[in-house]
Amino acid sequence: MLNFTVGPVMSNPDIIEIANHSTPYFRTPEFSEIMLENESMILEMLHAPAGSRCVFLTSSGTGAMESMVMNILNDKDKIIVINGGSFGHRFVELCELHKREHTQVKCEFGHQIKRRQLDGLEDYTAMLVNMHETSSGVLYDMNMISEFCRKNNIQLFVDAISAFLADELDMEGLRAAAVITGSQKALAVQPGIAVMALAPEALKRIEENKEVCMYLSLKQALKNGERGQTPFTPAVTTLLQIHKRLKEILSQGGVFEERRMIASTAENFRSSIKDLPFEFVAESPSNAVTALHPINVRATEIVKILKNEYGIWACPNGGDKADEIFRIGHIGYITKEDNNKLIDALHNMNRRGLL
Ligand SMILES: *Cc1c(COP(=O)(O)O)cnc(C)c1O
Repeated sequence: MLNFTVGPVMSNPDIIEIANHSTPYFRTPEFSEIMLENESMILEMLHAPAGSRCVFLTSSGTGAMESMVMNILNDKDKIIVINGGSFGHRFVELCELHKREHTQVKCEFGHQIKRRQLDGLEDYTAMLVNMHETSSGVLYDMNMISEFCRKNNIQLFVDAISAFLADELDMEGLRAAAVITGSQKALAVQPGIAVMALAPEALKRIEENKEVCMYLSLKQALKNGERGQTPFTPAVTTLLQIHKRLKEILSQGGVFEERRMIASTAENFRSSIKDLPFEFVAESPSNAVTALHPINVRATEIVKILKNEYGIWACPNGGDKADEIFRIGHIGYITKEDNNKLIDALHNMNRRGLL
C-alpha cells in the first residue's frame, strides 16, 4: 500500500530497519548520549532561543497538547484558542477539561485567520494555536499571530505537530514559548513520541507551577532529560528512529532541504490535478497536506476506491466533513514515482467516470 495519509506516514528503509531489532535497554550512557543529541538537534532545527530545552514524551501528539495545557498554563491565565477545525477544537476541549479560562477565535473551515478577529483580546496572557490546522490544511499566518502576541505580551504556544519540517518555522523568530511536534508526521518515524521544545519563559512557568500530574509531568521530564533520560520507559525504538532521521536530515541539507522536498511534492501534486473535479479547501495551504472537496461524488467513496482498487491510502476527514472532504498528505518517504502513481490513479478514476 502507498500511504498518503497525514500520519503515520511512510518511512525510509533505514528507519524501518531499526524496528527490525529487539529493543535495547535504555538506562545506559549510550542511550543518554542519543537522547541528548536528539534534544540538541531538535532545538537547532526549530531555531529555538538560547537556554531552551526539549523533552520527549511517550505519547501521541495529543499527550503533548494536554501536558502543555496542564503543566505550562495555569488557572491565572486567560487563553486565546484559535479554532478552525478538529485540532483547534481539541485545544478548546483540553481547556474545558482542565478548567483553563479561555476564549475561542473561530475560523471558518479552510479560511485564514484575520487580524481583526483578535481585536479585543489584547489583555489575554497566552495563545494556543495549531500552526497548520491539519483537518482543513490551512497554514495560519504565524507572523501576524506572533506580532499580535509580542505587542500585547501574550505568550505563544504552538502546536506544530504537522507543520514541523513541512513549513517554515523559526521558534525564536516567532517568540514562541513552546512548540510541539510528533514522531509520526513529517519526522516520518513510528508513532509513540511527542516532542516539546520549551523556551526560557515556558521553563520558568513549569518551574513555578504546581505539579498536577505524574506521567505527563514536564518537571519530571526536564529533570531526567538533563542526563538524557526519561522518568518512565519511553518508546525506545521510536527515539532511536528519531535520532537516525534527524542525523540524516542534517547531513542532507537540513530543514531547508527537507522543507523544499515536501513543498515540491505538494506543488507537483496540486498542479497535476488542477483539471480534475475537485475544489481546494484551504485558502493558504500548508505544504504538508492538500484537502480536497470532490464536486460530484462523496469523498468517502474516493478514499474507498483508492484503497481497494489502487492500493493507495488517502486520508478521510472525520465527523460531518467525512463525505465532503478528503486529504492527501505530502509528508513521509514519498518518491516521485509514488506521487505519480497517486496522480495517475486519480486521472484514471476520472476517465472511468468515478469522479
Ligand atoms: C496529528 C496532529 C495532532 C496529534 O495527533 P495524535 O493523533 O495525538 O498524534 C495534533 N495536532 C495537529 C495539528 C496534528 O496534525
